[in-house]
Amino acid sequence: MNILLVYAHPEPRSLNGSLKAFTIKRLEAAGHSVQISDLYAMNWKAQLDADDSIQRRPGERFDPSLDSRHAYENGLQSLDIVREQEKLLWADAVILQFPLWWFSMPAILKGWVERVYAYGFAYGVGEHSDSHWGDRYGEGTLAGKRAMLVVTAGGWEPHYSPRGINGPIDDLLFPIHHGILYYPGFDILPPFVVYRTGKIDETRYAAICEQLGKRLDELFTTAPIPFRPQNAGAYEIPALTLRPEIAPGRTGFGVHVGDDA
Ligand code: FAD
Repeated sequence: MNILLVYAHPEPRSLNGSLKAFTIKRLEAAGHSVQISDLYAMNWKAQLDADDSIQRRPGERFDPSLDSRHAYENGLQSLDIVREQEKLLWADAVILQFPLWWFSMPAILKGWVERVYAYGFAYGVGEHSDSHWGDRYGEGTLAGKRAMLVVTAGGWEPHYSPRGINGPIDDLLFPIHHGILYYPGFDILPPFVVYRTGKIDETRYAAICEQLGKRLDELFTTAPIPFRPQNAGAYEIPALTLRPEIAPGRTGFGVHVGDDA
């Protein structure tokens, strides 16, 4: 199978650098084809701006969405964006690997999402009307592909538990899982999170690699998180709120995960 690893860490000799090398070796040994977007090594341009299209809409002010649509529809996107979109279309599975920085992804990776996820490619896909709010959340350009996060965090696992001070890890990762990955159609696998990175010796590193290796071996058989698809009847249209009979009385991110979780 084809696997794209999008990787965001500035130092090859870091824990993330070691885990990246381990991941590539493991996947290739299993017979997969792997492409890597090593964002720092590529000197990836993180900021979305008017330079993202080769030719702007004449006479118009820069509008991030409309300029993105114009460039995407007319083959005017900058080449670095096109290359990443091609990698996404090529991939059967995508892994985003990064250290947790300020409870989210590093800015360079957020910039990759903002620029590569063009209007017409990742959003603004499908019919938009009062009865159908686009092909998204379970449908879209990247439907049928799998995605998984590999995240390292300085905090301890209990700090990210349901009553932990940092908030539950599933909640912190929800905007990435649901908003960034499920939105354009990916099936999302449970994340692989390494906690307490300040306390890693050779023994623990070996155990982490063993656990990560198992997750990589099971990349195409692990059950995805059962997020509720937008267009399968669970949501009232056009409000896009969950029907009252589904998860009655419950609110919060967790209600968007189906009962088979
Ligand atoms: P490194 O620092 O490179 O390594 C960690 C440990 O692993 C070291 O002890 C190293 O010796 C060991 N190691 C590396 N490679 C190997 C190997 N091959 N074999 C054996 N041992 C090895 N944490 C949070 O929990 N929440 C946050 O919101 C958060 N925000 C942050 C914001 C910023 C700007 C920064 C800089 C850090 C933040 N952190 C946060 C901490 C951050 O998540 C960790 O520093 C990061 O995940 C560690 O990953 P690394 O690859 O940089 O590890």
